[in-house]
Amino acid sequence: MMTLPSTTEMYRALVERDGSFEGLFFACVRTTGIFCRPTCHARKPKPENVEFASTIQEALHRGYRPCQLCEPMSAGAAAPNWLAPLLDELKAQPDMKLRDQDLRVRGLDPVQVRRTFKRSFGMTFQAYQRACRLGVAMKALHTGSATIDAGMDAGFDSDSGFRQAFARVFGDTPGRARTRAMLTATWIESPLGPMLAIAGDDGLQLLEFVDRRALETELRELRRTLGTAIVPGEHPILQRAATQLREYFQGARREFDLPLAQHGSTFQLAAWQALREIPYGETRSYSDMARRVGSPGAVRAIGRVNGQNRLAIVVPCHRVIRSDGSLCGYGGGRWRKQWLLELEARGVRG
Ligand SMILES: [Zn+2]
Repeated sequence: MMTLPSTTEMYRALVERDGSFEGLFFACVRTTGIFCRPTCHARKPKPENVEFASTIQEALHRGYRPCQLCEPMSAGAAAPNWLAPLLDELKAQPDMKLRDQDLRVRGLDPVQVRRTFKRSFGMTFQAYQRACRLGVAMKALHTGSATIDAGMDAGFDSDSGFRQAFARVFGDTPGRARTRAMLTATWIESPLGPMLAIAGDDGLQLLEFVDRRALETELRELRRTLGTAIVPGEHPILQRAATQLREYFQGARREFDLPLAQHGSTFQLAAWQALREIPYGETRSYSDMARRVGSPGAVRAIGRVNGQNRLAIVVPCHRVIRSDGSLCGYGGGRWRKQWLLELEARGVRG
């Protein structure tokens, strides 16, 4: 889960190479683009140059590479030697999508690859590939579009890999994208992990946790629907969104005041509107929501449309739970849903 110790405590553990914090956090070093175990023997970064991730996946999503000294990726069982060429290849070409057939061509058994990834890295091979790809693209959001256009090394060995990974996630490299209508993407930190936010002049188009599985599909759909390109940068709506989210997470904001650009059928739009009408700190059941939009029989459809919401938190699909009070699914993960509902419950209690 996501509950990290305090930053002071983690920094102390990092400097003292405190083994009892092993596995509890990973230290991401901004100046080198590398992430380490707490016990790493490398020189320790200054406090202002380190950020902390609770999982390997999160560190990768933030665009960091594993340290070669402390090898944080070989947490569980050390990654076997036969896997090394594959890992190197993925590092150089983070946009690669390797399927079973591609693995066989490399003389690898797909089943064994999958099993080993799960055991060594605590994630599936697919999740690892996605994390590498997204990590590179997200890194571009930090470093700015000039970096990508120039093909400059933003911490990855291969320039072309960097550009291609960005294009794979966002559809095009910024230079080429400028000839078309554009949406602007940025990265927003939250206590629940990093979020990707995208806006155009019409409003906020997307707000999602970076590790959401459907993220790449959502980005593809967004580009297709709008015929636009997505480039990293700043936009007044994104700045407002970041400020308001920070206030929300501090318990100081209950409603969002942001222009939203939503695309969908009449039913989808009605269902998303109904979500925005659920007051802060309250929950509704799927059947409540179906009645609310005038289609009491459409309980399943409501569930589906909730899942298609691309504006996490701002359109509070986390406030819909089962009639028996259980949480059921959430695109950002059930633990996040729980966390958000608890935050709001505390806010209401004052
Ligand atoms: Zn290290």
